[in-house]
Amino acid sequence: MSEKCHYIRVRGVGRVLIPGCMAVAVSGDLDQCTCNASPTPHEEIERLKKENENLKAEIKRLKGLLY
Ligand SMILES: [Zn+2]
Repeated sequence: MSEKCHYIRVRGVGRVLIPGCMAVAVSGDLDQCTCNASPTPHEEIERLKKENENLKAEIKRLKGLLY
């Protein structure tokens, strides 16, 4: 993961949460952020693969809101 969860401010929309981890992508709650959690080898890799796919979909959805 290259980016932690963060908010961006969008004119006419307000604050938009850009998730960097699965916990936040699902909950929409920045307090659930696990971006700083230490990875554990095998399960973490599998989890991140799935997370990556989910985040791609979520980012695509969010961009759809912006443009
Ligand atoms: Zn996060």
